[in-house]
Amino acid sequence: MIHRLLIANRGEIAVRVIRSCRELGIEAVAVYSEADKDSLHVRMADRAVCIGQADSKSSYLNKRNLIAAAVASGCDAVHPGVGFLSENADFAADVEKAGLIFIGPRPETIAFLGDKVAAKRTAQEAGLPVIPGSEGAVEDAEAALSFARKVGFPVIVKAASGGGGKGMRIVRDESQLASAMKIAGHEAETAFSDGTLYLEKYLENPRHVEVQLLGDGKGNVVHLGERDCSMQLRHQKLVEESPSPGISPAIREDMCSNSVRLFEKLSYRGAGTIEFLFDGENYYFMEVNARVQVEHPVSEMVSGVDIIKAQIRGAVGEELGFNQRDITIKGSSIECRINALAPGTVSYYLPPGGVSVRVDSFLYPGYKVPPYYDAMVAKLIVHGSTRREAINRMLRALDEFVIDGLSVNLATQKRIVSSPIFQSGRFGTSALETILKEV
Ligand code: ADP
Repeated sequence: MIHRLLIANRGEIAVRVIRSCRELGIEAVAVYSEADKDSLHVRMADRAVCIGQADSKSSYLNKRNLIAAAVASGCDAVHPGVGFLSENADFAADVEKAGLIFIGPRPETIAFLGDKVAAKRTAQEAGLPVIPGSEGAVEDAEAALSFARKVGFPVIVKAASGGGGKGMRIVRDESQLASAMKIAGHEAETAFSDGTLYLEKYLENPRHVEVQLLGDGKGNVVHLGERDCSMQLRHQKLVEESPSPGISPAIREDMCSNSVRLFEKLSYRGAGTIEFLFDGENYYFMEVNARVQVEHPVSEMVSGVDIIKAQIRGAVGEELGFNQRDITIKGSSIECRINALAPGTVSYYLPPGGVSVRVDSFLYPGYKVPPYYDAMVAKLIVHGSTRREAINRMLRALDEFVIDGLSVNLATQKRIVSSPIFQSGRFGTSALETILKEV
């Protein structure tokens, strides 16, 4: 069992992991950059270690300092959180080489799935439908053109090592293909040190639906149903929910059981997600996220499972403690990401409360949000017995939420959740643009 765990992350997700550690009786060690000494995760942890200067490269991406901090503070495990080094196979391997437990998939699994081209091929071999496109990496504009002609325009150029929407370009006709390849390749090279590209048919306004999975590393895999993340702007998710209001029970069943099969094949360890696009008729495998995701709370709310705890159990080779028959998806859950629009100081903070309302945040009155990191400062999550009840509860909770001194997107979230498009449940990834254009 784990006695002391280092959280190689900051802010909201660090606080989230500390909470599960407390309940499991595990001591939590926080790390912080010089800009984060007043962060809530530092205050909440049992102890905290400064790991470097404000810029992420010197601190939260500094593998050597993170591992040294874990060893020096007597930790036996490391949780990477989300973002930063959470899908970095070298980091996972270095953690293990230092004799520590990495709370996540095996390093080989992360490396393998991090290559989206290889992951897509494996998914296809496991019988999952994939988006038509190049069957592998495209070497040059000429090869890209022949694939694009085969599947038909529009197409999307994507980076094999991509993430966070980087290295992606939509191409609507032949004349734009070569320049899109050049820009996407350059962006991918800069962001991921890997300019490898592949090509897919671009689906117009599909739904983004993803399956939450948990594995014990020995081939036992359980799914917690699916999430819908179609409310996104420029490929960034803003509102997520579970279950998806846009797929039939038959599609859901097929998607979830196919996902379990793929993860069983990988003997997957810990928490992971398979992302799909759904065009109203068929669904297609897109990629695997080999880590816990920002939107994991909506699955926790409908399934009753603490995903972080399950992740920790999986990493130490314990059984998950439940099987598929024990999981029932109840009601409906929605999450709104609360983003800061600019850095600033919180002068007053009053989170909402009441039945089935959850706030995962690291804000407190007087806290100065630093300019160096992610814009997300809180996640507001609600549960309802029906989707209608969850919507009403979210609107009520958004109204209650007071964050003074800091400019945040609460008004935008109210607009989204009260919009007829969101409420209808019938929308795809382009809907948000339409909602935000309406006055
Ligand atoms: P990242 O890992 O960078 O976030 P993803 O592959 O997960 O990239 O894609 C992010 C988003 O981009 C998806 O949710 C979807 O909105 C859009 N997208 C990706 N591939 C396609 C495609 N073939 N057709 C239409 N939209 C796509």
